[in-house]
Amino acid sequence: MNLHEYQGKEILANGGVKIQRGYVVESVEEAVKAFNRLKEETGTKFAVVKAQIHAGGRGKGGGVKLAKNEAELKEHADNILGMMLKTPQTPGGLDGEGKLVQKILVAEDSYAPDFDACKEFYVSIMMDRETKRNVIIYSTEGGMNIEEVAEETPHLVHKEYIDARLGMQGYQARKIAFNLGLSGKSFKEMTKFISKLYSAFVKNDLSLIEINPCLKNCEDEILAVDCKTTVDDNALFRHPELAAMRDTSEEDPAEVEAKEFGLNYVKLDGNVGCMVNGAGLAMATMDIIKLSGGSPANFLDVGGTADAERVENAFKIILRDPNVKAILINIFGGIVRCDRVAQGVVDAYKNMGNISVPIIVRLQGTNAEIAKELIDNSGLEVRSAVVLQEAADIVKEVLS
Ligand code: GDP
Ligand code: MN
Repeated sequence: MNLHEYQGKEILANGGVKIQRGYVVESVEEAVKAFNRLKEETGTKFAVVKAQIHAGGRGKGGGVKLAKNEAELKEHADNILGMMLKTPQTPGGLDGEGKLVQKILVAEDSYAPDFDACKEFYVSIMMDRETKRNVIIYSTEGGMNIEEVAEETPHLVHKEYIDARLGMQGYQARKIAFNLGLSGKSFKEMTKFISKLYSAFVKNDLSLIEINPCLKNCEDEILAVDCKTTVDDNALFRHPELAAMRDTSEEDPAEVEAKEFGLNYVKLDGNVGCMVNGAGLAMATMDIIKLSGGSPANFLDVGGTADAERVENAFKIILRDPNVKAILINIFGGIVRCDRVAQGVVDAYKNMGNISVPIIVRLQGTNAEIAKELIDNSGLEVRSAVVLQEAADIVKEVLS
């Protein structure tokens, strides 16, 4: 689950990490109040208005603006709130339709009094699957697109791997501060920043935190100016306060609905809808669709209990996607009996009444033969197969 910048910063602040302070608001009036409050609390003269959407590169799309007085603040807040913000990371990129901005963060000007005297760094932490360790990635080239930095000047991107049994060691934080070219106060600040950031990452079960830029300000303090955060979905049950931060308006509506039904669904851009029990079988099914010349429209794991209700919910979600031209149901009846699934498919099909795309059902395992008979005799436009390749061939036939 992804978080907004302001939510990520809240996690950091709770963990004692210095952040660019600010208030999140939804109207111009609130923005003015936030600006006045910030002036009192931080002594800031200016404020930055920052669009809160789940995408980076907001500055490039006009979603981050510096306001030097109240009039400018009102103007920026008014322009950014309600805009369809296009960034290189919103769907379709800068040519896409963008994302609606519903909230803005009004933040202190962290670069005062001398923008050029500040230094921007890049710091992120994520799980590295290859080494099975958390890795801290950091660079002196902050504030810009890190993928480009890694491409053009790979020697400027450093990695520090953390042994989960030992946790982050003091020398590792010092090594990072040293490699970033810091000394004196800012060196100490950076070691503290990195240690607290790492603790917050572990404590909150994050799978990614990216601070770009991580700023050395004019007082040689180190603080997070931007924050991109992903929480591990599988750990949300033990962080109700993080689960409450979910912003479903930022997520794919079909994926949100699937979650409510307890289905594992990921939307893809092909034309063959898939309904499968078990993640491994779902992957294999997508492979065989691809090999037969089709392209999967989704990944959908209905789980162990594929009864009529689950099958119907899964149908509804698959059919929300206008690209779907055929649906392949591939169920292995191990624990669940195939005839029960087949009955579920038939019932769901009848209940929904308006399914206009061809459906191919392949059931294998316990009571597969009875299941095939059930479907063949149902009188519905559902075709059955026993072998997976046979099912893929029927998909190919109905698509051509
Ligand atoms: P992103 O474009 O979505 O990555 O948003 P960021 O939060 O990283 O902000 C983009 C850029 O805006 C930063 O790299 C800074 O150059 C600038 N910026 C952000 N905060 C401030 C601030 O407090 N003062 C000034 N002067 N510029 C800022
Ligand atoms: Mn940024």
